[in-house]
Amino acid sequence: MSADLVIRSQKVVTPEDLAPASIHIQDGRITAIAGFDDYPPDAPVFDAGNSVVMPGLVDTHVHINEPGRTEWEGFASATRAAAAGGVATLVDMPLNCIPATTTPQALQAKLAAARGNCWVDVGFWGGVVPENVGHLRPLFEAGVLGFKCFLIPSGVEEFHCVAESHLRIACHELKRLGAVLIVHAELPGPVDEAVRALNKGGSPDPRRYSTFLNSRPQKAENEAVALVIRLCRETGCRMHIVHHSSSVALPALREARREGLPITVETCPHYLCLAAEDVPDGATQFKCCPPIRERDNNEALWAALGEGLIEMVVSDHSPCPPEMKMRESGNFLRAWGGISSLQLRLPLTWTAARGRGYSLRQLTEWLCRAPARLVGLHNRKGAIQKGYDADLVVWDPEASFRVDGALLHHRHKLTPYTGQVLNGVVEATFLRGRKVFERGWFPPAPAGAIVSRETL
Ligand SMILES: [Zn+2]
Repeated sequence: MSADLVIRSQKVVTPEDLAPASIHIQDGRITAIAGFDDYPPDAPVFDAGNSVVMPGLVDTHVHINEPGRTEWEGFASATRAAAAGGVATLVDMPLNCIPATTTPQALQAKLAAARGNCWVDVGFWGGVVPENVGHLRPLFEAGVLGFKCFLIPSGVEEFHCVAESHLRIACHELKRLGAVLIVHAELPGPVDEAVRALNKGGSPDPRRYSTFLNSRPQKAENEAVALVIRLCRETGCRMHIVHHSSSVALPALREARREGLPITVETCPHYLCLAAEDVPDGATQFKCCPPIRERDNNEALWAALGEGLIEMVVSDHSPCPPEMKMRESGNFLRAWGGISSLQLRLPLTWTAARGRGYSLRQLTEWLCRAPARLVGLHNRKGAIQKGYDADLVVWDPEASFRVDGALLHHRHKLTPYTGQVLNGVVEATFLRGRKVFERGWFPPAPAGAIVSRETL
């Protein structure tokens, strides 16, 4: 028995347990999980002591925006922030970059931009747009982990939303391929209706958060979820609702799951940790779509996480240059919608979860295992298990820190969490057995790999 590295701790989170253990690593994989003192005598040891050792986080919802809008974020900055936040694997969204990842050629442009610039492992979503049904198979064969579509204008002109008729055709094709379709589930009808109603009462103040909130009603999500459920039932396509925020749609989703439909749901830290009541006027760093809703709504999302109806918490890290957030005018209606939080997902979720009595094993399910399952990486990533990639995060759940731009490795530091005191300090991140972050330190060169279907 030999090992390149042993990582041991009093608190190792495995699928079965939270217990003292030593993790034996060889050639980037976990070869054994043994007793705390049970390891080859000549192996180098990283002793995490009382800190928690958890699987490296998997974040399946990240907008890196490169190529084409690299001034918004980029592979190097995003993946360094990921490593600093305990994330070992992230999956990049197919839009906000130019070209959008809707053709095999666009995927090649992505790969060219990513190669040599990734500090953690990176996979890709492809896009479903009205004009690319013929590209779905070649994109899937080229290695994307699944597909994303929008049911409402996406905010960028190169990524069109799909109507029900397009979506139906795409669902049949994805069912044939065995690919998952992830859906931005808001419909334009209720949003248009809400905006008309708002304008009827004179011109609403665009600096007020309530103006923006009222313009993106739950009804837009509820009707979109109903459409997704209907198409899921009709086509058998595996479907997933991204960044779910409406509590009213939860019973329909519960019913769909009971019926056995292949449908899953994610939410994000901002829907769980922030509340509409607390968003100051003009504070456009809180703007995202669907919007952060009221506290009661968020408690229902927590309950849905607790029962397993919502399976995972992913970041939806979607930054932009600070000037696009219109901080000077504070105009919610004109500001770019998107929240920066890639590096903070672990402490944000943990701080809110521990106060509600959730365990570290539950946290691991939401942040690691369920996202790995969504993209078909669950036999390799998201768990501390023999044969898996040695992706690990070492962190102290008791230690706290104040969120400050100086700590963030995102390209832009604007985030609604600035000033918050959070529990959970990431001490070190390991990627396939190599240390990629430790207390502010990074290795001299990036070690991340491209994760595609062919490497499964
Ligand atoms: Zn997104």
